[in-house]
Amino acid sequence: MTAPLELRQIEKAPKALLHDHLDGGLRPSTVLDIAGQIGYDELPATDADDLATWFRTRSHSGSLERYLEPFSHTVAVMQTPEALYRVAYECVKDLAADSVVYAEIRFAPELHINRGLSFDEVVDAVLEGFAAGEKAAAAAGRPIVVRLLVTAMRHAALSREIAELAIRFRGRGVVGFDIAGAEAGNPPTRHLDAFECMRDHNASFTIHAGEAFGLPSIHEAIAFCGADRLGHGVRIVDDIEMVEGHGVRLGRLASILRDNRIPLELCPSSNVQTGAVKSIADHPFDLLARARFRVTVNTDNRLMSDTTMSLEMHRLVEAFGYGWADLERFTINAMKSAFIPFDERLALIDEVIKPRYAVLIG
Ligand SMILES: [Zn+2]
Repeated sequence: MTAPLELRQIEKAPKALLHDHLDGGLRPSTVLDIAGQIGYDELPATDADDLATWFRTRSHSGSLERYLEPFSHTVAVMQTPEALYRVAYECVKDLAADSVVYAEIRFAPELHINRGLSFDEVVDAVLEGFAAGEKAAAAAGRPIVVRLLVTAMRHAALSREIAELAIRFRGRGVVGFDIAGAEAGNPPTRHLDAFECMRDHNASFTIHAGEAFGLPSIHEAIAFCGADRLGHGVRIVDDIEMVEGHGVRLGRLASILRDNRIPLELCPSSNVQTGAVKSIADHPFDLLARARFRVTVNTDNRLMSDTTMSLEMHRLVEAFGYGWADLERFTINAMKSAFIPFDERLALIDEVIKPRYAVLIG
């Protein structure tokens, strides 16, 4: 029996991240700085530590709707090109410092036009921040590739326009599209024309589904919308039956997800905060991993969930006893599921992830 992996060891391992919201990952000090610069005076704290605590406790709400409320403050300070650039740049730096080697970061441009920016200006500012962050990280010996997914809010009616935005910026750093926001009452089928637009252009998309809402949401995302990946998808566990002495029996929907290797962007800490699961130990992550679903580990919102990629992995290690080979598998799962071209995925797997895990495994 080898000793359980420690957080400081996991921090050195290469990681790939597919599900992380730009407006959920700001540094508390940056929220305060920008609020001061633009005269936003509605923040609930004036000190970075107090603000971090407020975000964490406020988000540990037991419901997705209440979990989403604190975003009004982060979004409020991301309304100028300078602020968007800074937040994007710091996001890349923070991920690189945590040994993340590939990340797809998402945000909803429609929430960042309150001060008159166009969608294109919003996306340009974020992509410039990413590029500068990648350059700085490489210069510091921590190379990272960061790409953008543009999100449409599921309660709004701008999804077609946002899908077109994703296509317009394809090849310039945007690699896909997503819909997010409260699931109840906002089925993904309301946005079919956006998904059609993506498919028409052979472009990739993921859908937040099966987080707060159950199997019907996952079914619609896969069967009607044709999602390439599922944001969360954790409720697929409702279609899996434990059979005494025989492991698990999958229903048809769960089978389709597993047979077609549909990636699940699982976000353990976030699921605990929204009440989707009671605790990390109760999270179906391990059940899904053992049943060989395409599971990936993600942060969702690093500020609200007070987490990092290393912390998410460490929490799973503590709950389920994972070793390096497991963490490597989850990382390669994520890399295989990335929306960048196959040769670029393979290069990161073969030239970065596998060699570095080989050293860690020893
Ligand atoms: Zn999310």
